[in-house]
Amino acid sequence: MNLHESEKAAGILRSLGYEECDREEVADIILFNTCCIRDNAERRAKGNIGAAKVFKRNNPDLIIAVMGCMTQQDSAGEAMAKKFPFVDIILGTNNLDKLAECVEKVRNSRKRSVLIDPCATPEIREDTPVFRTSGTNAWLNIMYGCNNFCTYCIVPYVRGRERSRTPENVMKEFNRLIDEGYKEITLLGQNVNSYGKDLGMTNGFALLLEKIAAVRGDFRVRFMTSHPKDFNADIADVIASSKNICNNIHLPVQSGSDKILKLMNRHYTRDYYMSLIQMIRSKMPDCGITSDIMVGFPYEEDEDFADTLDLVNKVRYSGAFTFVYSPRKGTPAADMPQVPPEVSKRRIIELVNTQNKIVKEISKTFEGKVLRVLCEDLAPKGEGKVCGRSECGRMVTFDGDKHSIGNFYDVKIVKSQSASLFGEVVE
Ligand code: SAH
Ligand code: SF4
Repeated sequence: MNLHESEKAAGILRSLGYEECDREEVADIILFNTCCIRDNAERRAKGNIGAAKVFKRNNPDLIIAVMGCMTQQDSAGEAMAKKFPFVDIILGTNNLDKLAECVEKVRNSRKRSVLIDPCATPEIREDTPVFRTSGTNAWLNIMYGCNNFCTYCIVPYVRGRERSRTPENVMKEFNRLIDEGYKEITLLGQNVNSYGKDLGMTNGFALLLEKIAAVRGDFRVRFMTSHPKDFNADIADVIASSKNICNNIHLPVQSGSDKILKLMNRHYTRDYYMSLIQMIRSKMPDCGITSDIMVGFPYEEDEDFADTLDLVNKVRYSGAFTFVYSPRKGTPAADMPQVPPEVSKRRIIELVNTQNKIVKEISKTFEGKVLRVLCEDLAPKGEGKVCGRSECGRMVTFDGDKHSIGNFYDVKIVKSQSASLFGEVVE
């Protein structure tokens, strides 16, 4: 989501004549896109913004700007303006469309702009230029904001309520991206499964996927994120029956303990979640299922964590993002009793080890199989090698060169190493 927003900011800056450069020393503008989902993201952003001051010493015309979730937190904009007097522009999450205006203002008068619109339901802007940087993949927002208020999460406070783009606007952009030659489109939303509810649609996401599945061409579609409470059999049926929609579902569970799920306000139980996994696997046995999992949430006891480990062992995710809970000011969980850091640390290590072992075992089962892979890039290591993901989301390395990028290949897996697969193109 943030990467795509940076692409929009880059599109706006390019429309003003700016181009990308690779060193801060030669930049005319440095724009920080911030995230506040966890404390370490915020700390890193603050560190990087602070470090940018020196570039202004050598280049007084340099414009420094900050955008993204961090600025939108309660009174964060003013605090930031005070802490970083050398920052020229501070924009809230609803104010990206004002970036061009603010840059012009600073250029013309060196006047500082701090714009943070607190509205929770701002209108969707359809006309923002996008400078895409993600190679063969293009991101496509189908909705913005979130209504779920999981008790640990800052997103609904800094991104406002759910707003869906109309199916017409989504399809218009989708078709344009296919015409432009993108081979993989990733649909984005905090909870794509509730797409269209605010437009009065029932089962809007399944209907949207059906429209997308009807588009002809050699491409694939992914989507994220699915909230388990809104995922259903209709959505799974469209994915299962469409050649172009990847059998790959990111279905964050967060915890395997009913007590913790309730405290998190996730609106599903462990049993319900397991029934979804079963339903998905019965329709798509080869579906790659991934998750977000958190440890150290308030009140998490050893037995709750044991439930999480047990669930991880039962589901056998093909990948998982694992996090230590980080209290976010203004969210309900921040006022609950906190788990000691050393306990969280022990748990995250055990969780990561467990998940890594599963991934390694799953990787082994791919040896000898043929996977359809979209070549995305040159491999970071190895001359004459390229890499790309399989439909189920696994990274595969195989022989190729820059001309292979953007093409689909059937690749026979000959070796696996942790999460990585290595193969040979099947003629
Ligand atoms: N909307 C998505 C993901 C949003 S944020 C969803 O509901 O799944 C991505 C992940 O960050 C979350 O799934 C959660 O696991 C993690 N996360 C969110 N807030 C957090 C916090 N305060 N501390 C640690 N991890 C957090
Ligand atoms: Fe945060 Fe929950 Fe919304 Fe995801 S669904 S963005 S975790 S509040």
